[in-house]
Amino acid sequence: MRIECIAIGTELLTTRRLDTNSVWLAEQLAMLGLGLNLKTAVGDRREDLARVVREALDRSDLILVTGGLGPTFDDFTKEVFAGILSARLVEDAASRADIQAFYDARNRVPPPANFKQALIPEGAEALRNPLGTAPGVFWQDPPGHAGTRIILFPGVPREMKRMWTEHALPRLRSLAGRPVHTLRMVVAGVPESTLDQRIREVRERHGHLDWTILASLTQVELLARGEDPASLDRAYADFKPLLGEDLVCTGEGNLEDAVLDLLKRRGETLALAESMTGGLLAARLTAIPGASEAFLGGATVYSARAKAVLLGLDPATLAAEGTVSEATSRRLAEAVRAKVGATWGLAVTGNAGPGTEGDASLGAVFIAVAGPTGTESRSLNLPGDRADVQVRATAGALDLLRRGLNLDQKY
Ligand code: AMP
Ligand code: MG
Repeated sequence: MRIECIAIGTELLTTRRLDTNSVWLAEQLAMLGLGLNLKTAVGDRREDLARVVREALDRSDLILVTGGLGPTFDDFTKEVFAGILSARLVEDAASRADIQAFYDARNRVPPPANFKQALIPEGAEALRNPLGTAPGVFWQDPPGHAGTRIILFPGVPREMKRMWTEHALPRLRSLAGRPVHTLRMVVAGVPESTLDQRIREVRERHGHLDWTILASLTQVELLARGEDPASLDRAYADFKPLLGEDLVCTGEGNLEDAVLDLLKRRGETLALAESMTGGLLAARLTAIPGASEAFLGGATVYSARAKAVLLGLDPATLAAEGTVSEATSRRLAEAVRAKVGATWGLAVTGNAGPGTEGDASLGAVFIAVAGPTGTESRSLNLPGDRADVQVRATAGALDLLRRGLNLDQKY
């Protein structure tokens, strides 16, 4: 069984947009025990697309296509497929009704060009799009290509994902190989290479699993894949004590999910005082649905003035101790905790560069957590450019808080 993905859109060939659809589809296929043999990104030019489609029909059994189903001049995926396979495009009544209903619900009149989206190649099936107006297409055994399956998805990632889950996946189940299970362990506060060394022996003991180590600015992910869930459980049983406090979570979560989870389980709340991260930390937390149960809010206190006016720090003390200092980070954490009335106050101050700020060298970051039993602080020296330092600082802050929350409640 040969599977390929075609991502359509000129923006995918430039720096404007990354093709994330094929990455997501590859992950979904993996869960079915299937894999991509090939993927192509092609621009919105009919001749280029036609060439790719002809090749795909010659070499693949399952062709997953994203993009170009919209109503505009640069959307012609269905026309190209129908043309090559000598099929007519016919209007699908249900799709037309869906498009009408989509506009009715918004009190708007659909532009006539929009009904072009209801055209489906004869012999193919329309896949409903509950999030947009472009239906997808499921085409099994198209003319001259018995045994081939073609699926056309919208380019908009959330529409594509929903359509895959609701409509494509049920039609592909019969193709599934043996299901592959994944153990994902998220680790923070340890560099990738250190972690790699620490786990080598245990990883080799579980060498029949397929291992990946993935580092980002904020965490390291350890992934093991295998067909037998029991062998993944055995691996986890060995890794859990090995990783200890550095293990953030397993499954789909991240550092911020883990922190919010811990807070919620303890029935506690958090307030933030952010200087050099400029609100990034708050954004990471509020990106998670339900964050409001534990995250109360905070202040972006970028300047000395804001630190004084919003959180009541004494300007003279601030000047004496320095805006980028451990003492100031502790005062900020304590002040925001008291002002907001949260169980925990978390503060970050530092120098994200370029250059030095006062005495603080580039990448110098001070983090403090104020809690019911006192204040903890930590200083970090973070590598990278301005954006890297800011992102790494948010991870350092979340991790310091997480370790504090974990002290009396083990995972
Ligand atoms: P289209 O269906 O081609 O009109 O694409 C709709 C939107 O989805 C555009 O904003 C595209 O940039 C985006 N998009 C299309 N294909 C992809 C892809 N492979 N990965 C990520 N985004 C995409
Ligand atoms: Mg497009």
